[in-house]
Amino acid sequence: MKTEILKMLRESGGYVSGQQLCEKLGVSRTAVWKVIGQLKEEGYHVEAVRNRGYRIVDSPDILTAEELKSLFHTKWAGQQVVCYKETDSTNIRAKVLGEDGAPHGTLVVADMQKSGKGRRGRAWESKPGISIYMTLLLRPDIPPVKAPMLTLVAACAAAEALKKCTGLDVQIKWPNDIVVHGKKLAGILTEMSTEIDYINYVVTGIGINVNTEQFSKEIENKATSLFLETGSTVKRALLIAEIVRAYEEYYAKFLETEDLSLLKEVYNERLVNRDREVRILGNDKTYTARALGITATGELIVRRQDGTEEKIYAGEVSVRGVYGYV
Ligand code: ATP
Repeated sequence: MKTEILKMLRESGGYVSGQQLCEKLGVSRTAVWKVIGQLKEEGYHVEAVRNRGYRIVDSPDILTAEELKSLFHTKWAGQQVVCYKETDSTNIRAKVLGEDGAPHGTLVVADMQKSGKGRRGRAWESKPGISIYMTLLLRPDIPPVKAPMLTLVAACAAAEALKKCTGLDVQIKWPNDIVVHGKKLAGILTEMSTEIDYINYVVTGIGINVNTEQFSKEIENKATSLFLETGSTVKRALLIAEIVRAYEEYYAKFLETEDLSLLKEVYNERLVNRDREVRILGNDKTYTARALGITATGELIVRRQDGTEEKIYAGEVSVRGVYGYV
């Protein structure tokens, strides 16, 4: 009921009478009044005016299922939301939910992660209460080899949402990072459970540095946050709502062709490495080449100094700028 009340207050844009709330929800005035009391306790500023009703003036920066769901207008992404004050990692929780049969689109969100991860087991610094740690559980009916492309779908969605919510011209560092002014703002990690020829589930985790003021010594030169870039704080729930909206749209485009044909242009436009010299760090060799863009299946096309072009697969390598991270 809290979700519905929040939704009605938000969508009306003005006052909603106690009577309207009772009728719509089929509950008593006392029940409505109790929920309004709970919202106030959680930090919502709800104004109550005699003969007019309730009006929502401001919301706290909290990540609860009710807050998130009241902001979502999606068909499947985030229809089920599981929130943690503190957890190991949202990808781990989503995988457990995946094993337990949770539906496609289940969203896991945490206020803090104790063991957030990047690619190949690297740690993701996850401070409490100021950033976004979210994972979408997906059950796509596609061959397992196509699943890694979902990282790039998520990158397009996160970049679009970040631009829309903050105005920042964020870019994508192939394949899985969102950067701004050469520093890392967000990372994406896709993991999956498969049989030889079908996918049980895929989890795509997105970590975004939102209101972070300071990073640890190890990453302070390459990490940034929305706060550091814009000087203002951002309400995390609004950004998450925008991400799930954009994800649904891009995922539909991905499914239409089962590749990135319809997203390639969007991705390449934001690709920070495009037309730049990059260092490709493989397991046994490192070389420099010019990055040209991605293919419809998500590999990075590079041109070597001798003019030959080749496709780089994300699983095998890391890409760096010639002088630094990008
Ligand atoms: P690759 O290019 O292979 O993806 P990467 O360094 O970008 O390499 P990821 O696995 O994407 O690796 O992300 C993990 C790395 O990101 C960590 O090793 C650390 O350097 C950096 N990092 C960790 N936490 C954060 C954070 N909160 N914000 C920005 N960067 C972080």
